[in-house]
Amino acid sequence: MLDKEFVLEELKKIKYPGFSRDIVSFGLVKDLYVGEGEIHFKMDVTETNHNNLLQTKAEAEKLLSGLEGVREVKILLQVKNQNPKPTSQGHAPDRTNPIAPLVKYKIAVASGKGGVGKSTVSVNLAIALQKSGFKVAIFDSDIYGPSIAKMMNVEGQKPHSEDGKNLEPIENYGLKMISMAFFAKNDSALIWRGPMIQKAIEQFLRDVIWEEQDFMIIDLPPGTGDAQLTFSQVVELQGAVIVTTPQNVALRDAYKGVSMFQKVGVPISGIVENMSYYECSKCHEQSFIFSSGGGKKAAEELGVPLLGEIPIDTKIRIGGDKGEPIMISEPDSLIAKEFMKIA
Ligand code: ADP
Repeated sequence: MLDKEFVLEELKKIKYPGFSRDIVSFGLVKDLYVGEGEIHFKMDVTETNHNNLLQTKAEAEKLLSGLEGVREVKILLQVKNQNPKPTSQGHAPDRTNPIAPLVKYKIAVASGKGGVGKSTVSVNLAIALQKSGFKVAIFDSDIYGPSIAKMMNVEGQKPHSEDGKNLEPIENYGLKMISMAFFAKNDSALIWRGPMIQKAIEQFLRDVIWEEQDFMIIDLPPGTGDAQLTFSQVVELQGAVIVTTPQNVALRDAYKGVSMFQKVGVPISGIVENMSYYECSKCHEQSFIFSSGGGKKAAEELGVPLLGEIPIDTKIRIGGDKGEPIMISEPDSLIAKEFMKIA
C-alpha cells in the first residue's frame, strides 16, 4: 500500500553520492506527503554541490515514479545556510561553497549610472524569461535605490523565516524575489560601504531559500565602482547585461561597465538600449530624444550583441509606478515583444 512508511522505506534505497548512508537516515527528507497517487516532499540540504543534489533528486524521482499507483512525484530542493567562509576583497567567488547553487544562470543587470532604466529592464526581462518557460528569481541588490519591490507590487512585505535564520523570498507574478528594500526601516537610502555591502549581500544571498531556478536576474547598484566589483567577487555570474540610453554620456559609462565585467571574467550577454526613441501615439512619428544608434555603435565597437531597443513610453513608467510591469499589463504590445527578444 502506498503510504508514508512504504515511501520512506523505498527512499532508504537511495544513497547520498559519496556516502554509504541513505537520504532518509541523513534526515534530508522533510514534509513528506503521500496522497492518492501523489508523493511530495522537500529535500533540505546544506550541500552545495549542484550535481550531487540534482542526481539525488533525479534518482528519487525515478524510483518513486516507478512505484505502482504513483501518478505524480514532486520534490522541492532547498539549500540552507551553512556558515559561510568569509570572502575577502579581491578574491574570486568561492567555488567550493557557492552562493545560491541551485540557480543555473545568475545574470547581472548593470548600468553606468542611475535612471537609465536598469530596474525596469531587470523586471521585464525576468518576466519575459519566465514567459519563455523558465523558472526565474530576482535579486535586487541596488542598495542605493531598491525599486524592484515597488515595480513588482510587493512593497512593504517582509520575507518570512520559519527558523529565524533562513528567509523565504517574496513571490508575485510567479517570480521569487528578494530586495534589500525588504530590510530597510524606511525609505531612506541604505548607507553601506565597501566591506559592509559585501557582507550584507553575501549574507542575504546565503540566507535565502532560493530553491531550483533557471535564472536569477540581479539588479546591481548603478555605477562601475566597488559595489559592482564586489558582486562579481562574491557571486559567480554567468552573464551581465548592460543597460544604457543612446546618448554619448550614458554610452561612456556603458563602455566602463563592459570593461569592468570583462576584467573580472564575467561574460557580457549584451547591451540593452533603453529610451531609444519616442513614438507619437497619433502620427506614429518616431523622435530620437536621446540621440540614436548609440547602443548599436557601442555594441559593434565592443564586440558584444545589441540585445534590443526599448522606446520611451509612458506605459512603462506608469507600469513601474503602480507595480504592474508592461510584460504583465500589455504582454502583446511591441515593447513586450522586444523584451521577449531580449530574453
Ligand atoms: P534605474 O534602475 O536605472 O535607476 P529605473 O528602471 O528605476 O532606472 O527607471 C527610472 C524611471 O524611468 C522609472 O520611473 C521608470 O518607470 C522610468 N522608465 C524607465 N524606462 C522607461 C521607458 N523606456 N519609458 C518610460 N519610462 C521609463
